[in-house]
Order: sequence, then structure tokens, then C-alpha cells
Amino acid sequence: MATVSLLGRVLNKSDYVTDLKKIKELAQQHRDDFEVLSYMLDFHTDVTDKQIDDWVDSIAEPIADAIDCTQCANCCSTLDVYLTQDDAKRFSPVVDIPLETIIDHESAKKVDEWGKFKISPCVFLKDKMCTIYEHRPDGCRRYPVFTPDFRWTLDDITEGAPICPIIFNVLMTLYQRIDELYKK
Ligand code: SF4
Ligand code: SF4
Repeated sequence: MATVSLLGRVLNKSDYVTDLKKIKELAQQHRDDFEVLSYMLDFHTDVTDKQIDDWVDSIAEPIADAIDCTQCANCCSTLDVYLTQDDAKRFSPVVDIPLETIIDHESAKKVDEWGKFKISPCVFLKDKMCTIYEHRPDGCRRYPVFTPDFRWTLDDITEGAPICPIIFNVLMTLYQRIDELYKK
């Protein structure tokens, strides 16, 4: 498969797209490319899930390190945030808002979760920074998640491409470099 790029060459650090408006447009334009990536991973059953996860981690980690979340905060501004009782126990001592005013249990129950923040953008987001950063929910710590099981979770991950610069740039880079995986 030929190596392709939205910029005519393989993306490197200086090419990462972080403008949120542009990410939204490009993610839509490249949706077919992400489907090709998914198809290629499904098709090559000789490549194990572990090989795929290791390859994805080796590409995703430097991209996540290179993109400054404090200049973005789009996940905190736009996504539903689910949390566990342990999450709430961890941050409740450092917040002065009654938890019942910010946590919705009813709609969380419908998706087998304990709670969900009622307010979006997140009530703890101030000037693109998390005011409870040391105590934030586990889901916030992990986002965005690529592995384990990248092959089987790619369709869900792709849903995040229009809102998250890390996801968009990782998926574009994986698509551009998919041929590396089959040379191993
Ligand atoms: S995880 Fe993604 S959406 Fe959230 S702040 Fe970082 S780059 Fe932005
Ligand atoms: S708790 Fe912090 S990291 Fe989580 S969504 Fe709110 S502002 Fe973002």
C-alpha cells in the first residue's frame, strides 16, 4: 500500500494539526481513510492483537507527548464524563460544590455507569485547565485510550477524531504507516 498524507508527505511533529476547527473538517474528509485502516487490520489476521497494540503505542505515545492538552481542553468542553464512586470520593474533599448538583446518576445508570457530570463544559474546567487535576476521575486520566485491543475498538476511537487532536493525528499517522506493520 502506498504511503499517503494529507500534506503530501508522512506527518511529523511540525505537521500535527491542532486547530480544532480544522480537525473537525479533516476528520470528516478522512473518514474513509480510517475505515481503510480498520479494514486492513481486520484483513491481516496473521498480525496479532499484541503486535498491533505495540505498534500503535509506539506511534501514539510521542504524538500524545507532543500535543499540549492545556491549549485544547476540547474533551473537557464537549464529552460526557462518566465517573465511579471512587472517583467522587477522591475529589469530593477538594470541591466546594454539593456533589448532587453536579453528578447525574439516572442517565449514567442507563449505560451501566455510576455517575456522569451533569454540566458540559465540565464544571471543573477553568481557562482550559482542570482545577481538580490531581484528583480528576480515572476516565479523564486515561483519555484518549488506544490500547489494549486497538483492532477491536478502532471504530469507537474514530468517533473521537473530530474532537481530539491526539486521536486525529494518531489515526492519520497509523493510516500513513500501515505498511510498516506488515513488514514485521
Ligand atoms: S485529550 Fe485530546 S481533546 Fe482532550 S485536551 Fe488533549 S488533545 Fe484535546
Ligand atoms: S474533571 Fe478535569 S480532566 Fe475531567 S473533564 Fe473535568 S476539567 Fe476535564
